[in-house]
Amino acid sequence: MTILHWQAAATGLPRALTPRVEPTPLPAPERLAWSTDAASLLGLDAADAQLSTTLAGNAVPVGALPTATAYGGHQFGQWAGRLGDGRAITLGALRSADGEAWQVQLKGAGPTPFSRGADGRAVLRSSIREYLASEAMHGLGIPTTRALTIVGSPLLLRRETMESAAVVTRLSPSFIRFGHFEWLAHLDNASALRALADHVIAAHYPAFVGDYAGWLGEVIRRTARLMAQWQSVGFCHGVMNTDNFSILGLTLDYGPFGFIDGFDANHICNHSDGSGRYAYAQQPQVGQWNCAQLLNACLPLLDVSSEAAVEKGTAVLAAYGSAYAAESIRLWRAKLGLITAEDDDPTLINRWLTLLHRTHADFTLSFRRLANVRSDRDTLDAGRDHCADPLGYDAWIGDYRARLCAESSNETARAAAMNAVNPLYVLRNHLAQQVIEAAQAGRAEGIDTLRRVLAQPFTEQPGAEHYAAEPPPELRHIEVSCSS
Ligand code: AMP
Ligand code: MG
Repeated sequence: MTILHWQAAATGLPRALTPRVEPTPLPAPERLAWSTDAASLLGLDAADAQLSTTLAGNAVPVGALPTATAYGGHQFGQWAGRLGDGRAITLGALRSADGEAWQVQLKGAGPTPFSRGADGRAVLRSSIREYLASEAMHGLGIPTTRALTIVGSPLLLRRETMESAAVVTRLSPSFIRFGHFEWLAHLDNASALRALADHVIAAHYPAFVGDYAGWLGEVIRRTARLMAQWQSVGFCHGVMNTDNFSILGLTLDYGPFGFIDGFDANHICNHSDGSGRYAYAQQPQVGQWNCAQLLNACLPLLDVSSEAAVEKGTAVLAAYGSAYAAESIRLWRAKLGLITAEDDDPTLINRWLTLLHRTHADFTLSFRRLANVRSDRDTLDAGRDHCADPLGYDAWIGDYRARLCAESSNETARAAAMNAVNPLYVLRNHLAQQVIEAAQAGRAEGIDTLRRVLAQPFTEQPGAEHYAAEPPPELRHIEVSCSS
């Protein structure tokens, strides 16, 4: 058995804002899932009994320093004051073989000074969703925090109904959020704000040491690219509050998220989001709005004169639009298998998305099927049979074929390239729901079976047809609540 060298996690926050917190022991813990992929990052051994106890929150290993952090944030557009890690406890950090420090965080290990009267726990349902989504996003090549394991318990929690509890272990190089900067700005603590920025830059953005504007520009570009990546796979986050935005540009805090089945550009995945603030089509601009909040908090880093700081901040924020536009067109072109760039491509892409929206076609499978389209006009095309508007489909596909012919791409190479960017398997809500219901009934194996399929979303896997299929009609409208 390898000896793990636990260290305190270096956050860059002042000690007063990272109090030590003891995890609350979890009764009758039972491991329900273990991501071999995430474990391999740190060389963790599934059979390590001491580690199992640690990840249930039932022991604190030597060298670790369990802490919770204070942060604030804008929730649904409003300043929400102090939030903080109400149910996340960072145990400490472990190093990977190549020397990179990963912070190890338990979500649902009991109350912290930031729990605001809530229980500090997480239900099994939301823990399974976070675990699967984290590992699925990683499989898709989209930046995300990782999930290592789920430990279940017979402990019951009061939510809309009584539900069983679980602890999910998350891994990330840093769990610092936009909201950490906002909270320090709110406290008017310019020296702590600077110290946090200096730490984040030194540890995670070393190319920007001494250059706050350059660093903020890079955070903003990463965030913009992340939004373009979410859009490209039909992922809706659901709660894009600034406290859920990672300073590393990672997807963070999976709650009522969803991958879109039948495409609807205005899809709202969080049933508490009545106004659709975080609807699919809104995500890119919300990402920008969140970046503006981060910049606003960081103005003291940009200039001593507040007027000059605002001017510099405004210039930095301009990076968002160009980074989003560049990444977005790059991704959509790749999804259509286009190698060259033509001025009309945005129109071609938008007409395709409009067709999917209008016909409510399955987002994932519609893109996947495009790889089978031949530029030769005479061949039959299976995608047409799946389209509720065959004539609309013909009109678009005719122009698409013409576009393909114009760049005379190699058909086989194009199909392979498209299948490498258009996933076959995504974490559809009904798949998560089936796995959750089985786990709640005592059969948890399905969690890792599904995780393994989602880890290779671009590779057709024999026997996994069920995971690629559209939801049956009765499972199309699963509502996901914020209660977790
Ligand atoms: P979330 O919507 O999960 O991003 O959480 C928003 C805020 O509520 C964060 O400060 C969380 O730590 C806190 N929170 C959510 N659920 C709980 C809970 N069961 N116990 C304590 N704090 C919670
Ligand atoms: Mg959160």
